[in-house]
Amino acid sequence: MFPYVPSSSCWLYSFFSFLHHIAKKRSVMTNSRLAFAEKACSYLSASTDPFHAVHQAIQKLEAAGFQALQYRHNFPALQKGGKYYYTVHHSTLVAFTVGNKVAKDDFGFHLIGGHTDSPNLAVKPNSKKPPKQGCVQLAVACYGGGLWHTWFDRDLSISGKVLIRNGETLEPKLVQIRDPVARVSTLCIHLQSPDERAAFKVNTEDHTSPILATTTTTAQQELEKGATEQLDAWQQGQEPALMQRIARELQVDVHQIADFELSLYDTQPAAIGGLNQEFLYSARLDNLATVFCAVEALAAHDPADDTDIAMICCFDHEEVGSVSSHGAGSPVMGEAIRRVSAALGVTELSTVKAKSFCLSIDQAHAVHPNYASKHDSQHAPVLNHGLVVKTNCNQRYTTNSLTGFVVREIARQKDIPIQEFAVRNDCPCGSTIGPTISARLGIRVVDAGMPQLSMHSCREVMGITDLSHGYNLFRGFFENFRSIDNNIHD
Ligand SMILES: [Zn+2]
Repeated sequence: MFPYVPSSSCWLYSFFSFLHHIAKKRSVMTNSRLAFAEKACSYLSASTDPFHAVHQAIQKLEAAGFQALQYRHNFPALQKGGKYYYTVHHSTLVAFTVGNKVAKDDFGFHLIGGHTDSPNLAVKPNSKKPPKQGCVQLAVACYGGGLWHTWFDRDLSISGKVLIRNGETLEPKLVQIRDPVARVSTLCIHLQSPDERAAFKVNTEDHTSPILATTTTTAQQELEKGATEQLDAWQQGQEPALMQRIARELQVDVHQIADFELSLYDTQPAAIGGLNQEFLYSARLDNLATVFCAVEALAAHDPADDTDIAMICCFDHEEVGSVSSHGAGSPVMGEAIRRVSAALGVTELSTVKAKSFCLSIDQAHAVHPNYASKHDSQHAPVLNHGLVVKTNCNQRYTTNSLTGFVVREIARQKDIPIQEFAVRNDCPCGSTIGPTISARLGIRVVDAGMPQLSMHSCREVMGITDLSHGYNLFRGFFENFRSIDNNIHD
């Protein structure tokens, strides 16, 4: 509100009206960004592991009219204007729309690639550990390159996929224990020498096992005394308290639990932060911020006037190198292109691939004000200052002159600021699924992403303006890529 509004005849009135209009427009934009970030908070908090990240995405896609396809079965004839999805191992997601104006001899795939996994403490195959000092602990392994010290003194819980035996059949079920049931505690300061404090270093085998309970817990003693002889060898290797809790969560008998893929997560929900509500604090921003924006953008995409396939591929196992049956190094994306093309009656894929383009989107390193020297000052992205195009001449990122131009052009059309990132020459460089996809499929790929701090921490941070930029870029990509590409000469 303005404290003073002069008479309409006064030139000042026009000036203040103009300011008022700008302020109102800004506030509408801020409100919509905030609403979008709050939506992201719900998604991030519920997506505690890759299985739940995919499950949550499916809820959104189905609400938007997407139909499930079965990975293990031939696809039916796909309808123009149709919307489809399928999963691989429940932790990799492929979803797409078929443009209503797809011509059999003239279409391409407009792909967004991201990843569903994040570094975490994963439950080991034999989760039971001998009790130590009156404590029941869980055996865990370090998945990916986490900043493991950030997992100490957090209120942790457990989620993932469980295989349930029902007579002769085996059924996958998701489990998510909501209350904090595990904790990795630091050693108190009084028992550390000054040298030990200064050199705090995590031994990933000895120091990361969380405490679940004490051995005085009656339920625990009952479990230990229970019918152990009726359990199979795998079940006997599991922590009994964990098995009983899973059985309770899924309303099954302990004997029905045949195997699981579980990991720990921080129970603190995602939140909007900063004095001006401009940050998003959450676990797993790398790379669920991308998955969230990609799913939202595809769900909102109208294929009515589209001449191509708009597709998102969200892979598991990026954090451990993508080499798995359903990581980005697997046949999943290539198969998606082949199977969807075949369902549209096209088997010669050379021209389809030549007309395709992939945005490989992964979080980017914003410059840290306390560690600014870690960035080349000419390539130092700032939080809330726009999307980041990542380039590395040694091909750790796959951006080249043409693919970088395409992203900048989409961004220009959508009024999205772009920042450039290249790592310092004296610093090692991370990588993404981009080089893997471009090498395997031979299609054009660009590496880009939203800037963040604390990458691979248990709790990360990014700007909510950048989150909206990510979404708008994806919308622009699905809407405008073909017209941009039509003007690019071979
Ligand atoms: Zn990532």
